Amino acid sequence: MSERHVVIIGGGLVGSLTACYLAKRGWTVDLYEKRQDTRLQQHDGLGDNRSINLAISERGLAALRRLDPVLEARVKALAIPMHGRMIHALDGHQSSQPYDIFGKHINSVSRSALITLLLDEADSYPGVNLHFGHEFITANFDTGQVVLQEADSGGHNNSCERGRVVVDADLIVGADGAFSRVRQRMMSKVMINYSQTYIEHGYCELSMGPRNGDFAISPDHLHIWPRGSFMLIALPNLDRSFTCTLFMPWQQFDRIKSDADIVNFFRENFPDALHLMGEKSLCAEFAANPKCSLMYVKCLPHTYKNRVVILGDAAHAMVPFYGQGMNCGFEDIEVLDRIMVDTLQHANASSKRTADLSNRLLRRALDKYSAIRSVDTSAIVDLALENYIEMRAKVVDFKYLMRRFLEGL
Ligand code: FAD
Repeated sequence: MSERHVVIIGGGLVGSLTACYLAKRGWTVDLYEKRQDTRLQQHDGLGDNRSINLAISERGLAALRRLDPVLEARVKALAIPMHGRMIHALDGHQSSQPYDIFGKHINSVSRSALITLLLDEADSYPGVNLHFGHEFITANFDTGQVVLQEADSGGHNNSCERGRVVVDADLIVGADGAFSRVRQRMMSKVMINYSQTYIEHGYCELSMGPRNGDFAISPDHLHIWPRGSFMLIALPNLDRSFTCTLFMPWQQFDRIKSDADIVNFFRENFPDALHLMGEKSLCAEFAANPKCSLMYVKCLPHTYKNRVVILGDAAHAMVPFYGQGMNCGFEDIEVLDRIMVDTLQHANASSKRTADLSNRLLRRALDKYSAIRSVDTSAIVDLALENYIEMRAKVVDFKYLMRRFLEGL
């Protein structure tokens, strides 16, 4: 399968890591991302309605490590370890719930720093070409012909007409996120079982600045203010601020119409957080920041013949309560890589690697990947949904916590 050409659609977290993996295995990689190069832009973190920071766990780190232990170390250097949850009661009392008695932990990392690092890493492979401002339009999944639209081309691009770019690929990777167009196009071709579900809760990101030059609350924890049907969480940033996320039902968001409403809501439910965030900043951020929806996607299969595979949110978008969306997307690539390498090793006895044989091996690897991975990702999509109830309500249920503790012994 070496010296073959892969087109990756989507230069997000998963697409950029996929580029590194496939380049390492000898593929020539063209990655097309519809946005301009985010590395050249000022980040406010909210531009694409995504979290400013996220939790990277062992699942995601293992995928980085398999590619290159140095890359894992560079990501860890950008991250803040969170050793447990810190539960904030209504009266301001804080109780720490360690994640693990042996010190295993998750890590808070800036989304923009991580994507910059991964794009730089992909750029460093000689076989990788990154194309920004190129939107995937459609593909012929049997011939491997991919059609893209170049943004702002104004029709002056010599290599294509009116910004249309047509390329041929041996393999197409759809890493184009929850609303994946690659998946949509595949669905018109393949019998895909698919579901997309919005939950009745949305979220809004807020912040808590440093206090006297230091973190306002413990940086070693993922902070949770569980309030039954809604919650506030906070993850630390390297600049000693916290990114806070308010998750709650849409009806509750709708009831907040003014600065006074949001301040009263925080006074009633998160008085300690309000004190640390400050009324002025809370009002300004709540008014300015988007209120985003949450959905999850399940689909099966994730592949088409020897030609297409969808990875990351394109295959299994999930609600963020398990902190595993990106981690699971990274694991997709690791699993795919293991299967591709194994398939090739078993076939090494065959003397001559013709194009036909390469295609058959690739098909075998993709079929196996889809069969294994769709079951696992479907399970984690369910776990993510269940964890919302745990985070917003069960973390303060003593009987439930004791049962979980005893189960773990
Ligand atoms: P995306 O990040 O969506 O990237 C897709 C890329 O494809 C984008 O750059 C997009 O511009 C591009 N694209 C889309 N369409 C096209 C097209 N037609 N042509 C070309 N390019 C295209 N995960 C965790 O592991 N830990 C967490 O703590 C965590 N917290 C989260 C908190 C929130 C509030 C949310 C919403 C999500 C969180 N996640 C977390 C999930 C995580 O953000 C996603 O799983 C992850 O971003 C998926 O990466 P991806 O590359 O598959 O998709």
